[in-house]
Amino acid sequence: MNLFQKSRVDRLQIDHKFHTTVDVLRLDLVHPVVSGNKIFKLKYYLEEATLQKKKTIITFGGAYSNHIIASAAACSMQGMRSVGIIRGEEPKKLSHTLAAARENGMELFFLGRKDYLNKILPQEILEKYEKDEIYIIPEGGFGPNGMKGAQDILAETKTSSYTHIIAACGTGTMLAGLINAAAPGQHIIGVSVLKNNFSVEDDIRSLLQNPSSQFKLNFDYSFGGYAKSNQQLFIFMNEFYRKHRIPSDFVYTGKLFFALEELLNNDYFPNHARILAIHSGGLQGNFSLEKGKLIF
Ligand SMILES: *Cc1c(COP(=O)(O)O)cnc(C)c1O
Repeated sequence: MNLFQKSRVDRLQIDHKFHTTVDVLRLDLVHPVVSGNKIFKLKYYLEEATLQKKKTIITFGGAYSNHIIASAAACSMQGMRSVGIIRGEEPKKLSHTLAAARENGMELFFLGRKDYLNKILPQEILEKYEKDEIYIIPEGGFGPNGMKGAQDILAETKTSSYTHIIAACGTGTMLAGLINAAAPGQHIIGVSVLKNNFSVEDDIRSLLQNPSSQFKLNFDYSFGGYAKSNQQLFIFMNEFYRKHRIPSDFVYTGKLFFALEELLNNDYFPNHARILAIHSGGLQGNFSLEKGKLIF
């Protein structure tokens, strides 16, 4: 599958005094379900699982996790069995994300928060599956294979002429891939969607080919923390859609574009900066919002 077939680069119409250009790499268009960066992060894990002749993929995530639904759909496309270990008690009504994961054939197991934290596989799973048939993908796809897939984000489109690349940052896997794949002198900026998650810098460094690579993390736009939001964010996302016809999600890319606009307004970028913003997908997360919040 050519992951870039459906993606494209949109130039934003902004009226900026410093002749800045802003392009958005639309990875949200790559695939309707396995959208954005998740398909890239999963690619080498699934390749390795196939090489090792593993039949069952086990991975971890929360009830609204883009990684969970992406894993379910990707496994289903590749004819592999998938098991999702979900943080917390089983809810009476499944979230949209989990219902879609189940529709894609994923078997769901709910794990209390403490066991989840320690990533202990439930006994039921250990009894059900042979140890040597299972392949475990870490939560959020964090790890060298995930990073390697994220490198490919910059590999195929012509991105070397950008001076700045900006992306949302959760586990930091994608950012590590972008840093590794960046052209010399390119500035990579990560907008953390977790509150004061300063340890992500070390997580990112652990995945870098050159540990002294430069990159910037911005912790000013988490809107209170992971999946937290407020009215200001929704107003911005709607406005951004009206202006640019680009939908965003409230967990990652809404915060990214909000940050980008503020940084532009605060003259953060130098004269003639050529900025590439990565639209990393995640639009399915908006299904968990009440109707009417977003106009797209
Ligand atoms: C998972 C995700 C991210 C964060 O990627 P990390 O590699 O975990 O930092 C960013 N944007 C979207 C839409 C995502 O789903």
